[in-house]
Amino acid sequence: MRKCYRCNIKMTEGFDLKVEGGAYGIKISDGKGVFAKRIEKPKVAICPKCGEISLYIENVDRINKQ
Ligand SMILES: [Zn+2]
Repeated sequence: MRKCYRCNIKMTEGFDLKVEGGAYGIKISDGKGVFAKRIEKPKVAICPKCGEISLYIENVDRINKQ
């Protein structure tokens, strides 16, 4: 569960991050260029009170292993 830094209430999680105007999402990768290892698509959590957004990764375990 994620809490808003400002309001200290539960944020609504699980939104996808998309680039406006395209069907492309964004992803986090380790390294640069075509050889970059894809790590994870970030997810977005939104505070229902103030609109603060927070990016997070669901499978943190995979990153810790690297
Ligand atoms: Zn908030």
